[in-house]
Amino acid sequence: MDECIALMEAALASLSRGEVVLPLRPVLRIPDSTNVFAMMPAYSAALPAFGVKMITVFPGNHGSELDSHHGAVLLFEREHGRLVAMLDASSITAIRTAAVSAVATKLLARSSAATLALVGAGVQARTHLEAMLLVRDIATIRVFSRTEAHARSFSAWAERAHGVHVEVSPSVQHAVRGADVVCTVTSSRTPVLLGAWLEPGMHVNAVGASQPDARELDSAAVAACRLFADRRESLLNESSDFLTPKREGLISDAHVVAELGEILTNRASGRETDDEITLFKSLGLAVEDLAAACHVLAGAEREHIGTDVALGGLRPAE
Ligand code: NDP
Repeated sequence: MDECIALMEAALASLSRGEVVLPLRPVLRIPDSTNVFAMMPAYSAALPAFGVKMITVFPGNHGSELDSHHGAVLLFEREHGRLVAMLDASSITAIRTAAVSAVATKLLARSSAATLALVGAGVQARTHLEAMLLVRDIATIRVFSRTEAHARSFSAWAERAHGVHVEVSPSVQHAVRGADVVCTVTSSRTPVLLGAWLEPGMHVNAVGASQPDARELDSAAVAACRLFADRRESLLNESSDFLTPKREGLISDAHVVAELGEILTNRASGRETDDEITLFKSLGLAVEDLAAACHVLAGAEREHIGTDVALGGLRPAE
């Protein structure tokens, strides 16, 4: 996670310097369901390979032995365009998303932030706990999840994995009361975090709802915050958390203060006062996946880990 946080800082800075080609992702909706198949291509001058993440999101897998995200990151080398590696996308997605939230938290949460609220107790909740512990001195942690048993098993896991006590909250409102950092990591399609519950000085990482038909925050919450994005273009096109209050006339495009990369490259400032409420809306970017995958590939090559697979693309000998 700590290596990934540094990689994400570099990737987001590079994006804001204009070094990345990043089309909006085509998303194929599987008929008669909430399941999706997303294709996320990117090219970055700062990375040794370009490529694509192909990923399915099947929210109904939650609670079974299967992750709700499955797929692969394909890396292509830049000289001849050959496919050089295929990596598991579930783990890359789980880790890089939390690492990006850690970057946002470093830039936007008060330096004294010590109380963390997690809304949701799935895969992202686990990686977010790990990431938040790395960037702030967290002393108090609360979790709320729709299914109380999931929150309880999350708490037991946190004790085993990180040696921290996580209090199970009876409601979202209870979890976020007095919190310095709030992470919403649910697959809810309707708001779980209300503006009425936000308090001066909070920082929110809104991570679920990465498609235009799902929200985690109500309009009042988004309007009350200084809003930061991983990428403006993605937020303006893909985030219902943003598009709904915009449609209602509560905010305009100017409500987006900055991209994280603009803060990292000193083109914008992050938190300005201790009292303001900051919101990082995460959509997830292919360049984050590629940066993580290139790093994993380099490590695998160094340690001779992986399986060689012969593919086509060679001309037959004359
Ligand atoms: P999981 O399937 O592992 O966990 C889903 C969580 O959402 C569970 O805690 C579940 O609660 C909760 N939940 C589901 N439906 C509702 C609801 N209607 N109301 C309240 N809570 C609900 O998912 P992940 O942790 O892998 O992902 C979480 C979200 O983050 C997803 O929406 C995912 O698409 C998104 N995501 C975003 C990324 C980004 O880059 N921004 C990257 C990866 C994922 P319970 O267990 O109690 O039922």
